Amino acid sequence: MCTVITHPAVPIALSALLPQDTASSSLLIAAALCSVIPDLDVVGFEFGIKYGDMLGHRGFTHSIFFAALLAGLITFVFFQNHGSPLTIFLFLFLSTLSHPVLDALTNGGLGVGLFAPFSNQRYFFRYQPIEVPPIGVGAFFSPRGITVILSELKWVWLPSAIFFGLGHLFKRLRDMS
Ligand SMILES: [Zn+2]
Repeated sequence: MCTVITHPAVPIALSALLPQDTASSSLLIAAALCSVIPDLDVVGFEFGIKYGDMLGHRGFTHSIFFAALLAGLITFVFFQNHGSPLTIFLFLFLSTLSHPVLDALTNGGLGVGLFAPFSNQRYFFRYQPIEVPPIGVGAFFSPRGITVILSELKWVWLPSAIFFGLGHLFKRLRDMS
C-alpha cells in the first residue's frame, strides 16, 4: 500500500470530472473509502493467510474484478437515485482500482493480483518510484516514514492536485463559454 492517508488523493482528483448533479460529499466519502478498502486484506495475516495467497495481502481485493464488484454494490445499495448510475459506478470503480495501481508503483512487498480470482499472478509496474511505507503507526515518525511521505507528496498528491485544479479550471472555462 501507499499510506492510508494518500490513497484518497486519487478519488479527490477524479471528483473534478463529476457532473454537477452527481457530485456530492457522500459520494466523495464513499469513493475515498473505496480507495482504502483493498488494504483490509491485511486482516488475513491474523488468520494465517499468506501474503502470496489469492486472498493474501495485495491479492483478490487488489483486482479489477473486486473493484467492479465493490463499485457495483455501493452504487446499487446507496446511489441508485443520485444522478447517472453509470457515472457513479465508473467513479467508484476507478477510485477502487486506483489503489492497486498506486501499490504497483511502490518499491516493496509483492505485486498486486490485478487479475484475481482468475490468476494469482502479482504485478508491479516496471517503474516503481513510490517508497513503500513501513508497517506500524510508530514507523511514520522515523526518518524512513518521512522519506515515504515525501515520495507520496511528489508522486501522488502533487499530480492529483494538478489534475483536480485543471479539471475545475476546464469546467469553469466551459461554463463561461
Ligand atoms: Zn494495498
